[in-house]
Amino acid sequence: MKPKTDVDHDIIVVGGGFAGVTAARDCRKNGWRTLLLEARDRLGGRTYTTQLAGHKVELGGTWIHWRQPFVWAEKERYGLEVRETPGNVDPATEEVALLVRGERVLLRGQQMQPVVEALNRYFADAQALWERPFDAHHTWPRLFARDGMSAWDRLVQMDLAEPQRSAVGCYLDALANGTSREVSYNEVARWWALSGHSLPALDDACGRYALKDGTAALLEAMVKDGRPEVRLSTPVQGISDEGDHVVVTTHAGEQIRAGSVIVTLPMNVLPSVEFSPALDPMLVQAAGERHAGRGLKVVMKTRGNLGGVSKRLGLGGPELPLNIVFTYAKADDHCLHVGFGSDATKLDLNDREQVQEAARAFFPDMEVEECMGHDWVNDPYSLGTWTNYKAGWLEKYHAHFQQDRGRILFGQGDHGEGWRGFIDGAIAAGSKAALRAEGVLG
Ligand SMILES: Cc1cc2nc3c(=O)[nH]c(=O)nc-3n(C[C@H](O)[C@H](O)[C@H](O)COP(=O)(O)OP(=O)(O)OC[C@H]3O[C@@H](n4cnc5c(N)ncnc54)[C@H](O)[C@@H]3O)c2cc1C
Repeated sequence: MKPKTDVDHDIIVVGGGFAGVTAARDCRKNGWRTLLLEARDRLGGRTYTTQLAGHKVELGGTWIHWRQPFVWAEKERYGLEVRETPGNVDPATEEVALLVRGERVLLRGQQMQPVVEALNRYFADAQALWERPFDAHHTWPRLFARDGMSAWDRLVQMDLAEPQRSAVGCYLDALANGTSREVSYNEVARWWALSGHSLPALDDACGRYALKDGTAALLEAMVKDGRPEVRLSTPVQGISDEGDHVVVTTHAGEQIRAGSVIVTLPMNVLPSVEFSPALDPMLVQAAGERHAGRGLKVVMKTRGNLGGVSKRLGLGGPELPLNIVFTYAKADDHCLHVGFGSDATKLDLNDREQVQEAARAFFPDMEVEECMGHDWVNDPYSLGTWTNYKAGWLEKYHAHFQQDRGRILFGQGDHGEGWRGFIDGAIAAGSKAALRAEGVLG
């Protein structure tokens, strides 16, 4: 297929999160007249850099790592720096509060070791399941054999004593940003395998290094580099493949013609756009079921700087408004803490008192001075947080995700190999879709 000369653009990219910005940058750099259409009044999608108490904070996607090759390459390419969230610096000075059936248990230093060992046992077969985590086909039979199993199913198979059982459960709920009963075991095992098969490696890969100037700085560098035409506040209503070109219709009724379109919409949002030919019904079904990420994230400014404690970590079950709370940054007279919960309906993220009460379940002396968050689950342009597949999804849906149809290419970061559901996966999906566009246009 060749580009048409009577179209407005060679390529239209729908959605301006990391997948869309990457696709638009690459297409433009490949010489195509590229238009990026974004519904919100900002780029970034499920990443969102803003300010709290003079700190740059992220209300969505935050942490990156050199184990995430696509995003780390971008960070290097544009010379961006990282800053550290207090990590596994010195377990002896960490304060870990675990809620076990309503009881608060404090774990210090070596007391975390049994939890670390329990997680090692829990994930004992992750190596075999995800022997090549960027090449799921390599171990398809093993993954399919496990696919119906939720993370919870796996937990109840083990005869773990308390408090290890509760702690492992809390980690699983936190990875899901939902519940361990919904997320598949394969998914949490994927996180474990990609990170490097240990709790410190998981903490490092998924919760330690953030871009110093925010995810917004990386997006800005990418747009500046590629210079695609960007239109914000332009939600797309329809996408139609007309055989030798595509027509993209905006909510305002404008019809824009192009040689091809790259769709980077979140999977839960996909059916809100009218496609012609119609979307694969399995994609509509999966979106209706929604992925497991239906929780919340809140950023808190808390009074005091914790004295000699290097980091606080609170772990609780999915029935609580917050199921994980940890120190994000320390200043002279205050800290930033981040909290995640399994159910977006359980907390008003902008209600300071509610948030403080939720955090005090772990640390009764915690004084929340300010807080903020974004309701990703009810935002019509995301309808969820990060994507984790539910039990049975690999077998049911995998073959349907990211299947291009004619001139309509699917570059969604929610799907794909490796770190799908992460910033890294979004960049991977966008860059691969841009490459496939060459086949359609060139
Ligand atoms: C709370 C939270 C914490 C997270 N933490 C991390 C983390 O620490 N590290 C990490 O790597 N990942 C994290 N993630 C996941 C990561 O942010 C996402 O996987 C990634 O940003 C998704 O990028 P994307 O481009 O695929 O999708 P999105 O960022 O969702 O982009 C899709 C875009 O499509 C737009 N859109 C929707 N509908 C329309 C329409 N009709 N017309 C036009 N545009 C439309 C949206 O506005 C959006 O900009 C987190 C996510 C959340 C929500």
